Amino acid sequence: MKTKVRIPQPKASELADEVDRLADAGLSEVGYGEPELERLAKVTWRINRLKKELGAVIPAHVYQRVEIVKGVADFVGDSYKLAKDCVSVEAEKIVFCGVRFMAETAKILNPGKEVLLPAKEAGCSLADSITAKDLRALKARHPGVPVVSYINTTAAVKAESDVIVTSANAKKILAWMYQRHHKVIFVPDGYMGLNLARELGKEVGRDMVVWGGTCMVHENFDAGAVSFYRRMYPGVEIMAHAECSPALVQAVDFVGGTGDMMRRVKESKAPAFMLVTECGLGDYARTVMPEKKFIPMCRLCPHMRANELGRILQCLEDPQPAQRVEVPAAVAAAAKRSIERMFEIAEDTAKA
Ligand code: SF4
Repeated sequence: MKTKVRIPQPKASELADEVDRLADAGLSEVGYGEPELERLAKVTWRINRLKKELGAVIPAHVYQRVEIVKGVADFVGDSYKLAKDCVSVEAEKIVFCGVRFMAETAKILNPGKEVLLPAKEAGCSLADSITAKDLRALKARHPGVPVVSYINTTAAVKAESDVIVTSANAKKILAWMYQRHHKVIFVPDGYMGLNLARELGKEVGRDMVVWGGTCMVHENFDAGAVSFYRRMYPGVEIMAHAECSPALVQAVDFVGGTGDMMRRVKESKAPAFMLVTECGLGDYARTVMPEKKFIPMCRLCPHMRANELGRILQCLEDPQPAQRVEVPAAVAAAAKRSIERMFEIAEDTAKA
């Protein structure tokens, strides 16, 4: 049933408190001045009131705009953390601030709940690089070889997979798979496949069949710039996302998913950090670790940026059919098995 709820504008005192809350949450740290904070506060205040009224939660990926992450999100994280958090969500309505494959994962794990994606067109170049039909054809060419799919895939591709991985657990889950199989199919990220094969001492072609999808953000970072930045900023610790090219991955100091990078920054004593990934992570890191120095070398993902406060408010007030995320029951059941396999193997490897 269509929900239409309207929340009035905040009173002057409520607006002033909301501006202070956003500033204290770290938005001042990333350069938002008073007029911008006031403009944002008018919307965040209404979104937060609406969430309570409707019993909704907002999970947000760390690549989302900082005013979403710090202003309205109930939980924040990388794909693995969000997938885990969605399992235990009690709210009946999930307004997912991320891209479509993430919102689909939330729906698969919470089939009885309403899942909304404010930016209904927010896709992902990796998820778009392979269809379920492509994967069925690949499996037919390699009969009996298990399929390990990166979480950046559609629900239909997940349904054709044996196990899902995220950048946080891909290496451990692949190592677990290689203890039981001599060969695996890895889709869809070609660079991540090459990076993982090298780390695990496996040969692409012989031990691993790799699909050639790329992330349109991470594929464009230039490995040649790393030595330039090292000369410019002596002692800088450079970290790259595992979706970057093998040349770049081998040139930096640390490689991992967004959660791994955040943990590494917290632990490291380096005088400065460069996070080679989507710009949202750097903004988020600056709000939670204002004492650390970050050198920008980031790119914006147009899909991640498509969510904005105005669209979240509209989605809560008057959701449109195209913003409702639906996954056919048979696809959801098969995809859920491959996601749960990830949780099981991740727990198994954590105990080992
Ligand atoms: S940053 Fe890359 S992998 Fe992430 S949503 Fe954007 S295109 Fe997809």
